[in-house]
Amino acid sequence: MLVSAKEMLQKAKSGKYAVGQFNINNLEWTKAVLLTAEELRSPVILGVSEGAGKYMCGFNTVADMVKAMMKTLNITVPVALHLDHGTYEGAYKAMDAGFSSVMFDGSHYGIEENVEKTTDVIREAHSRGISVEAEVGAIGGEEDGVIGGGEVADPDECKRIADLGVDMLAAGIGNIHGKYPANWAGLRFDVLDAIQQKTGEMPLVLHGGTGIPADMIRKAISLGVSKINVNTECQLAFQEATRKYIEEGKDLIGKGFDPRKLLAPGVEAIKATVKEKMELFGSVGKAE
Ligand SMILES: [Zn+2]
Repeated sequence: MLVSAKEMLQKAKSGKYAVGQFNINNLEWTKAVLLTAEELRSPVILGVSEGAGKYMCGFNTVADMVKAMMKTLNITVPVALHLDHGTYEGAYKAMDAGFSSVMFDGSHYGIEENVEKTTDVIREAHSRGISVEAEVGAIGGEEDGVIGGGEVADPDECKRIADLGVDMLAAGIGNIHGKYPANWAGLRFDVLDAIQQKTGEMPLVLHGGTGIPADMIRKAISLGVSKINVNTECQLAFQEATRKYIEEGKDLIGKGFDPRKLLAPGVEAIKATVKEKMELFGSVGKAE
């Protein structure tokens, strides 16, 4: 059974660790993340962007696939199915399809419109026991066509959105989606600290987890980050392993063309990446 992300993130915040959100793209991806979470007894959040939802034939297909898979694989750790960077309309569609958590990304609106729309999504979501993530200060880079300018969030605006009753808050602190450029200035810990001071118990979310050095991740967790989004890193691991399989000509040997064989190294690579992240985030063994 899917659960809201609220409780697992409150536990993470008070326990000073973070729960990983791993974005899924297909059946193999979902299976890899769920099996790793179960093996490591870690809570987990499956992230689905609107683009990925469309690719997987809609939110209903995704929610039904995840629920059926959890039953068949006997997954007993807490799992939240979360809409990543949702539009206002998308958030409602995901809730109707059975998602247990939604992000409404109103960061590209002015603060007044962001407040108004976020309030509306929270009212609907909470009436159904669904958790809500909001965003202040657009996160840089590009994610499924959502382009952020890499702003640094204003701690006062963060407090204003937090006070609306969101369950988790994403704030731009110099983090970006995708690969980080060589001249990246690093995370703004001064801003993160100011945001935590103002928002107190609110679990904070770090987007763009790919390529942030481990010491910065640990420091971010110590300053109140309780959810870290990982997307690109799993994609790169999958790509590298699949490339190797084909470049080594393994698809040409015997039944190496069988998709169950051809995709297997990529799946193993996703599992290894998820494991590495769960260990870094400190969520291993926290499912109980
Ligand atoms: Zn993001």
